[in-house]
Amino acid sequence: MVNRDLDESSADKPRIKRQALVEEVYNLIRADILSLRIPPDTRILVDDLVRELGVSQTPVREALSMLEGVGLVSKKHFIGYCTSPTLNRKQFDELYEMRLLIEPYAARCAASRMSRDDLEALSAHAGGMEQGHTRASYARFADHDSEFHARLADGSGNILVAEALRRLHTHMHIFRLHFHSQIVSEAASEHDRLIKALEKRDPDGAEAAMQDHIKKSYYRLAPFAGN
Ligand SMILES: [Zn+2]
Repeated sequence: MVNRDLDESSADKPRIKRQALVEEVYNLIRADILSLRIPPDTRILVDDLVRELGVSQTPVREALSMLEGVGLVSKKHFIGYCTSPTLNRKQFDELYEMRLLIEPYAARCAASRMSRDDLEALSAHAGGMEQGHTRASYARFADHDSEFHARLADGSGNILVAEALRRLHTHMHIFRLHFHSQIVSEAASEHDRLIKALEKRDPDGAEAAMQDHIKKSYYRLAPFAGN
């Protein structure tokens, strides 16, 4: 269980400590949203979070505003903060269409451009991805998968490609569609295939492996996208 007793003893702490508290609150609320502990399209009661986390309203409000920035919550007039609805079918299809345009190309470039050090770090990251079956570990897997894809896109050597991918906030959206531990083990074997192609410096193989990974992810999650 996550320790929810956050230290917030003094109101006039140094700014850096306050920022660390906001980030911690942000991470806790975000994990709750990603793992569906707070369901999609649901009102978030600031006072409830304040009580549960043992902090004042300020860090909670700041964290919620950061979550609004990444599209996980929205602020509605007269209602307050609500979790965003999950993607409807059209948005889901568009997201995957865009991923299929960007990511296989990024993988192709990374096969020839990624440095040996970055590749080794990517491989270690993939090997360390948690395979637990709890909601909290599922949320952590979402983070690790997101970082895996971001690192690979960085490896393309094209900053615009990497930024375009980041801006999609793919993992925030897709991991809320369904909580299913099988997704974790299936994705891990697909990542392995991708890493092997990159290690062989095989652009065709890396492109094909990424295409395959994204298509399989699409079919795993499509049944859970809205109408
Ligand atoms: Zn993945």
